[in-house]
Amino acid sequence: MRKKLNAHFMLMTVTAILLTVFFSLAVYYDLFQKEVISSLKTYTHVLESTGAFEKDVLEQTKPVDGLRVTLIDTDGTVSFDSNANIGRMDNHGSRPEIQKAFSEGEGEEIRRSATLDKNTYYYAVKLDNGQVLRVAKEAGNMFSFLMPMIPILAVMGLVLLGVCMVMAHFLTKSIVAPVEQMALHMDDEKYETPYKEMEPFLDTIQKQHRDIVRSSQMRQEFTANVSHELKTPLTAISGYSELIESGIATREDTVRFAGEIHKSSNRLLMLINDILRLSELDTSNGELATERLDLYELARKCADMLQMSAEKHNVTLLLAGDSCYVQANREMVEEIMYNLCSNAIRYNVPGGRVMMSVNMEADHAVLTVEDTGIGIPKEDQKRIFERFYRVDKSRSKSTGGTGLGLAIVKHAVARHGAEIGLWSQVGEGTRIRIVFPDAGEKDVRELNGREPDR
Ligand code: ATP
Ligand code: MG
Repeated sequence: MRKKLNAHFMLMTVTAILLTVFFSLAVYYDLFQKEVISSLKTYTHVLESTGAFEKDVLEQTKPVDGLRVTLIDTDGTVSFDSNANIGRMDNHGSRPEIQKAFSEGEGEEIRRSATLDKNTYYYAVKLDNGQVLRVAKEAGNMFSFLMPMIPILAVMGLVLLGVCMVMAHFLTKSIVAPVEQMALHMDDEKYETPYKEMEPFLDTIQKQHRDIVRSSQMRQEFTANVSHELKTPLTAISGYSELIESGIATREDTVRFAGEIHKSSNRLLMLINDILRLSELDTSNGELATERLDLYELARKCADMLQMSAEKHNVTLLLAGDSCYVQANREMVEEIMYNLCSNAIRYNVPGGRVMMSVNMEADHAVLTVEDTGIGIPKEDQKRIFERFYRVDKSRSKSTGGTGLGLAIVKHAVARHGAEIGLWSQVGEGTRIRIVFPDAGEKDVRELNGREPDR
């Protein structure tokens, strides 16, 4: 950035210097030419007014140094010339300054001389007797004008360039300094950049910084939680197997211990399964493999699968609704349903009810899982979707919970662009609603309106 800014400043400077030189030379040169013509004019008028233009008077007077006086007759022939032999001179009637003098009374003209660095300036005036009197003078042209100036211009240009280089350096520095300062304060929330234009940029970076810090904290927390969760069943497995190994355990004990080992290893498997699922959801953010699914059909399968567990908990499992089609990932929808339903059964009261329903609301398919269970206290409601968060640790563990179920649900719901809503009252029950996004596709909506072909 610094180099580029510097280069731009230099380019600007050089352009400015060149343009200034060019225009001032042009103006100056124009003034010079006007001055030469004006002096010719004065001399011509002096000659005219004193009557000194008569041929024989002219022949006797010597013209002022460097001036050439010519007298031209009405037909264009030269009747007198102070510098040349008139016998050899051609007809001057076609010269522009003379033509102009004949027609308009006076004429002026500048012509290139034979020598490279000179121009000839002409001024002609028509006399009362019809002749034209012309005075000419050789003077420097642009080239001769420029030559002596070149060294001065070069020195001036170099000095200016030097000054501008130093200024460009400091200017660049002062422009870049706040940006460098900002780079040093990226993580400082209170830092204010002097450039208003940089604010969105700084905001974005700071937000990213916060996100990175938070996600690294979450990762650390998660790792700690995972280790902790793995430790309990592993400690149990290790303890029971040690007892069996030592031979102290009686035959009945061994059977019981084997049962405990079995339970703990199942729990480990479940934990690892859930963790793998979560990390899978975390890392895959590409296209989701979706298909057209009948939510009601999936809910029925889920209810069938959990029927046994419901009976075990003395809970009635009900299903209501109609066919509803969504474009979604089958595995994830199954997971969502299974997790919500098994929560509703496990955190229920004996004799309680669980109601799963699927229906359309406007253009959205909605899945509702409602129970008459223990409910979730207000202060825990926003935390239950966190990983490993459990309201009642002992109850969750005794029913085999890892605290990852709702975290997986939340993730899967987000991946589908769906929304999740929670209502719960301690002692009354809990209701969780998942609103799927508008399918957007006409054919899906049409299918929702009628029984699908089977
Ligand atoms: P997992 O689902 O991994 O087996 P879990 O059920 O304990 O374990 P989550 O499904 O994430 O974990 O639920 C988190 C906590 O939210 C639960 O421990 C429980 O305290 C509370 N909770 C979830 N669903 C309900 C419900 N329907 N009624 C009452 N409390 C619930
Ligand atoms: Mg659960």
